[in-house]
Amino acid sequence: MNIKPRVVSDELKAYRIVKSRKILSVDDSAQLVRLEKGYEGEWLFNERVDQLSKEWLVLNDLQLESNNANFQIDSILITQKPLLLFEIKNHEGDYYIEDDKWFYINGSPVQNPINQLERTESLFHRMLQDHGYNIPIESYIVYVNPEFYLYNAPRNLPIIFPNQLNRFFAKLEKIPTKINQHHMRLAKKLVSLHKNVSLYSKSPNYTYNELRKGIICANCRSFNLESKKMVLLCKNCGALEDIHSAILRSVDEFTLLFPERKITTSIIFDWCNG
Ligand SMILES: [Zn+2]
Repeated sequence: MNIKPRVVSDELKAYRIVKSRKILSVDDSAQLVRLEKGYEGEWLFNERVDQLSKEWLVLNDLQLESNNANFQIDSILITQKPLLLFEIKNHEGDYYIEDDKWFYINGSPVQNPINQLERTESLFHRMLQDHGYNIPIESYIVYVNPEFYLYNAPRNLPIIFPNQLNRFFAKLEKIPTKINQHHMRLAKKLVSLHKNVSLYSKSPNYTYNELRKGIICANCRSFNLESKKMVLLCKNCGALEDIHSAILRSVDEFTLLFPERKITTSIIFDWCNG
């Protein structure tokens, strides 16, 4: 049962909107690609989890705090006994490990994801204890992209590589899962502890004036819309949307990009280009 479904983060939403309305800088484009890729990887992982006919409880994208430190978890599975914690990566290309440090194949250092996973697990463990839960946690980094390879990886790392995914999911299928009220309470507790503010948000560069105004298609993000009575028709992809909901969606976009600005009729009139 999916208790907390995955949603597009505000950060990714903001990058997507800004991209439709101006030309992104090289840095912002690269960040958008990273975010899209990460999201796609997490989505692939969820698809695999959903294919298993299990009763367990699934929670995605949790932003939590413990011991005055913020941390985020890509996915949690609450099974009967252990709590499974997943960090999902959609990296591709060749990487290597040398003296416990991680590098991209060209020699540029990358963050050691094992350290990050250990930090997350220990903060999470402490947070659970603070709320009276003493549950074993198993943590994994899951690489979903078949184009990923890691040289010099020791056997004992908590990593599931792309070519191990099938066997890993087959193993998960065998974990006993009888979910009871206790598990459900824990899941609800975790959702209640989730902080809605994105903690690691970077944001794209933009000013109000440089963004192209107008309503964009919800489906393909084209500006090429034609209004027919109370409906907008996208001449690019053929999608139809009720004008009322298109305007509300545009207001949401505006609020996301300019949270400190007051929403007035004239501002929205300008933002939607009349
Ligand atoms: Zn469209």
